[in-house]
Amino acid sequence: MKFSTRAIHAGQEADPTTGAVVMPIYQTVTYKFKGIDDPMPFEYSRVANPTRSALEECLASLEGATGGLCFASGMAAIDAVVSILKPGDHILSAAQIYGGTFRHFEHICRPRGIEISYVDCTDPENFRRAMTPGTKLVWIESPTNPLLQLTDIAAVAAIAHAGGAKLVIDNTFATPYFQRPLELGADVVVHSMTKYIGGHSDVLGGAVLTNDLKLHGAFKFYQKAAGGVLAPFDSWLALRGLKTLAVRMRQHEANAIAIAQFLKGHPRVRQTLFPGLPEHPQHELAKKQMSGFGAMVSFEIDGGRKEADQFVRRLKVFTFGESLGGVESLAAHPATMSHASMSPEEREKAGITEGMIRLSIGIEDIDDLRHDLDQALK
Ligand SMILES: *Cc1c(COP(=O)(O)O)cnc(C)c1O
Repeated sequence: MKFSTRAIHAGQEADPTTGAVVMPIYQTVTYKFKGIDDPMPFEYSRVANPTRSALEECLASLEGATGGLCFASGMAAIDAVVSILKPGDHILSAAQIYGGTFRHFEHICRPRGIEISYVDCTDPENFRRAMTPGTKLVWIESPTNPLLQLTDIAAVAAIAHAGGAKLVIDNTFATPYFQRPLELGADVVVHSMTKYIGGHSDVLGGAVLTNDLKLHGAFKFYQKAAGGVLAPFDSWLALRGLKTLAVRMRQHEANAIAIAQFLKGHPRVRQTLFPGLPEHPQHELAKKQMSGFGAMVSFEIDGGRKEADQFVRRLKVFTFGESLGGVESLAAHPATMSHASMSPEEREKAGITEGMIRLSIGIEDIDDLRHDLDQALK
């Protein structure tokens, strides 16, 4: 079955006892056993819950994975992946990663004896040069936040495997609709379901998908042992969001292409960053490894912090706030929001200026979005 069909049906047979078409919210902690040594498929909801299991099966199907696990947030999912590391192990990470992942690496992993180093993700050779005998995980995100740079997933997977390491990719920005990293050689995909998968800015969640049975077993053990599971109601919300992932992503992307074109020609915009623009330095790679360009668009306003502040205050349809991936359009100021913990010098080096605005393009009417940006840029 094709993607859109699986997004609606995978893991979600009609309920055998009632015929309910929609997967019920199994708001139960425990399950009846038949007798001693005769347990039922479910025993205790930290271990497994039918609503969560349906979501895990559906997501695994969409990413082309054999196993999926859902956690209480994207960060809980990331925490489960690094749980397999021991003191002395090394994570070779892209420098361009989500701020919360960086915080976890530096403040949770490093004090526990795990080594981490960072390389610019745009050239796979950087990864080859930085591999060490201790490298167990190579960690990337593509496209990145907020500069929308890409990493050649197949090339970095080959480098990781040659060094005996596994490639993990945070696929939150692209979603499985536009990019399926396991098919390109990645070993593990993580998601913040809080973003496009939930899609309505009303649920936090995280997921870990893999084809590697041994890794899946280790992650599943950690899920049960550490307990950061996704609740039944939140699983249900994410399942409901997933059903419209394909149509939402198509509309998100169509709007994003139109907005990127609009910004590109605007006299008050210095630079527009979007992998779908032919002048994006990795446009060809985007076409090769993605089936769409996503809907995150960043741009640099002509000016600095003051001009960016005026712009966000004038917005009427876009909301100035954190997060991304919901049906509503959002604008963020990376220098003072997602990347505030970096020093001004580090930000400067990374290319995140005070005039940079990151847009999460929603699925409102394109005329209203364009008009809103136009009046706010006046
Ligand atoms: C938001 C986000 C996360 C963290 O997810 P939470 O659900 O907020 O814990 C991880 N990676 C990326 C790329 C994100 O955008």
